[in-house]
Amino acid sequence: MEAVFFDFVGTLITKAGENVTHQNIVRNVLERAGRDDLDVVEVWEEYEAETSSAFKELAGRPYVKIRDVDTKAMLRVGERYGFEVPEDFWEISVSMHEKYGELFPDAVETLKSLRGMGLHVGIITDSDNDYIDRHLRALGIRDLFDSITTSEDAGYYKPHPGPFRLALERAGVSPEESLYAGDNPAKDCVGARKVGMLSVLLDPEGKKRELWNGCDFVVSGLSEVPEIVKGIITGKKM
Ligand code: CA
Repeated sequence: MEAVFFDFVGTLITKAGENVTHQNIVRNVLERAGRDDLDVVEVWEEYEAETSSAFKELAGRPYVKIRDVDTKAMLRVGERYGFEVPEDFWEISVSMHEKYGELFPDAVETLKSLRGMGLHVGIITDSDNDYIDRHLRALGIRDLFDSITTSEDAGYYKPHPGPFRLALERAGVSPEESLYAGDNPAKDCVGARKVGMLSVLLDPEGKKRELWNGCDFVVSGLSEVPEIVKGIITGKKM
């Protein structure tokens, strides 16, 4: 085993923190538009529905800027409710992520443990470069990664093999010696498997049971990942 790569949202940072972040983006936009009369949670739910349907369409497809997808989603919600979306919407979005993003409690210890084993530790994420760079710095974990590969770098969204192949090339490792950990079976396990990497599904509440067989390992917490790696290394020596 030479390298372990991670997905970002829902794997290193929590979905709960992401929801708080997005609600604060909406709150900020509504304040700027002078529309404190609107219900933040209701507008947030509309925004989530718009972005999730947009990203469902984009899965596996050529990359388009996430800043544009997110801004257009908010513009559609703005049209529906009759409010203006600020010109600097993306800056609002990234700064709210910097402020409210929340790491899983065992993320740092897991990353340090893998680095301690001499492994290449990387990220493969459907992200714009400025977003992921600023987000990781705000979380104080940028230096814990040897490589960061985005859909912007690769020109495709997961589960297209492009981002996975580019990450392997940058790390100088073979897929058989690499593991990818993510929380979305359809994007993360499928994408890793396409290029011959092993996959680990993070499923803390066991809600994705019907999709487990598409993944090589299933864990309920990140701290189990170093144990899996140790098991693979030991198994090979025997
Ligand atoms: Ca994810």
